[in-house]
Amino acid sequence: MFSSRIKNLHPYIPGEQPTDREYIKLNANENPFLPHPKVLEAICQATKNPALLSRYPDPDANELRSAIANFLNKTGGVLCTTQNENGKIFPQNDLGFTITPEMIFCGNGSDEVLSFVFYTFFDSSVPLVLPEFTYSFYPVYCGYYGISQNKIPLKNDWTLDTEKIVAEAKKTKSPIVFANPNAPTGKALSNLQIKAILEQLDKNQVLVVDEAYADFADESCICLLKDFENLIVVRTFSKSLSFAGMRLGFVVANPKLIDSLFTAKNSFNHFPVDSITQKAGIASTEQIDYYAQNAKLIVQERERLFDFLTQNSWSPIKSKTNFVFTKKDGRGGREIYEAVKKEGILIRHFNTSGIEDFVRISIGTKNQQDQLLRILKQL
Ligand SMILES: *Cc1c(COP(=O)(O)O)cnc(C)c1O
Repeated sequence: MFSSRIKNLHPYIPGEQPTDREYIKLNANENPFLPHPKVLEAICQATKNPALLSRYPDPDANELRSAIANFLNKTGGVLCTTQNENGKIFPQNDLGFTITPEMIFCGNGSDEVLSFVFYTFFDSSVPLVLPEFTYSFYPVYCGYYGISQNKIPLKNDWTLDTEKIVAEAKKTKSPIVFANPNAPTGKALSNLQIKAILEQLDKNQVLVVDEAYADFADESCICLLKDFENLIVVRTFSKSLSFAGMRLGFVVANPKLIDSLFTAKNSFNHFPVDSITQKAGIASTEQIDYYAQNAKLIVQERERLFDFLTQNSWSPIKSKTNFVFTKKDGRGGREIYEAVKKEGILIRHFNTSGIEDFVRISIGTKNQQDQLLRILKQL
């Protein structure tokens, strides 16, 4: 009855979404702040136009692609950097060129976008090079598409071993994928390091950089698209734009690569992004100040949590994201997760050899962080 394919699938396990009681949710890297009121207004407006529901959406989401291109040209790909001397929060990074709508591909969350990227650019005959610890959905897609993996261990300080990654990729002419900043470690490579990787690859050897958390970091590698046509940047609305429940992710890349993604999409599902999500997504891109301010608050709270942990004999990894990956000597990760859960706060523990001592704590509001710190102190 079942295909041989399905027997070999090992699905991704997301952070739990329990309904048994009200938890403070610091387990799925969701944004603790609500979407901007204009986004809700866009959704209400959409529901007043029933034809929007009875008709198919724009299959290519062209208005949304333009809005995203605009958004990136204004922010430079990073919401959260420090204010300039005039107190202005954006544009922080001049990209040095203009992102056009033809460089954008939208999908139903970046998870789906990643699935199209895997299908379009990775072959089953060539092993994919990826870090040993990175977003755990990548190995799942490898199983789904029958792509073999060459996993490169992280360095002792939890950073990506870029020399080894490049050396292995060159050996087999392999494509490369990683998250930057990386998950679940929270560590980031600089643009100089990403550029150095790209300079060593063949022109047709693809590097996929998943920037789910770039808005909480110092830089985005989107500016490198100017010089490298083999770079594919994957982004999501879920984290920095408080949009995890709506499902919207996108790719930024050279138009030629985007065309191929459209071919993959149109061979699977013409309409991955529904009409309401398209409208709400556009409205989100128009509230840069609001989301930049939220990102800034999250970064402040992240630094406060990091300082608390280092001062209370934990061993956190310095993070460029909206979470902190940490352990405490003499305590198991599972034990910490359970103790914190009993007090009404959910954090994430991975039952994965090599990181089982760690917990990943998403950054909440100041009030949520206060409660978290109180509980961590009692541990
Ligand atoms: C959260 C996350 C995603 C998934 O984002 P969605 O757009 O919600 O599907 C992708 N990659 C990484 C590294 C993430 O942490």
